[in-house]
Amino acid sequence: MAEETIFSKIIRKEIPADVVYQDDLVTAFRDINPRAPSHILIIPNKLIPTVNDIEAEDEVALGRMFTVARKLAADEGIAEDGYRLIMNCNNHGGQEVYHIHMHLVGGRPLGPMLIG
Ligand code: AMP
Repeated sequence: MAEETIFSKIIRKEIPADVVYQDDLVTAFRDINPRAPSHILIIPNKLIPTVNDIEAEDEVALGRMFTVARKLAADEGIAEDGYRLIMNCNNHGGQEVYHIHMHLVGGRPLGPMLIG
């Protein structure tokens, strides 16, 4: 069994977070340490530790993460200017919280792709 992270507590509303969207499959909340004017994390409600742990049965939730990203980008007013979606995996990917999450980042020019 994978170990729960702080994100499971956010999904269950056991700790405070700035939740901007929630449904039966995904939850989205503002990153506590925003790197841009808009920085939202979109996560599946099911605990999946890393991208390496994704199963075929998770495809619906992963698809929902993208439709919610699209909606939230529009809500944030950043859809036309553009934004970046990021998922980090394991140590070399810089993953800190082992419950997969999509970073939706925008609101300023982000520059070239971040590597290193
Ligand atoms: P990653 O490096 O991809 O694992 O990103 C983890 C992200 O989670 C970081 O951007 C953190 O700022 C963010 N984070 C950690 N704890 C919280 C929290 N309690 N509420 C909101 N964001 C958080």
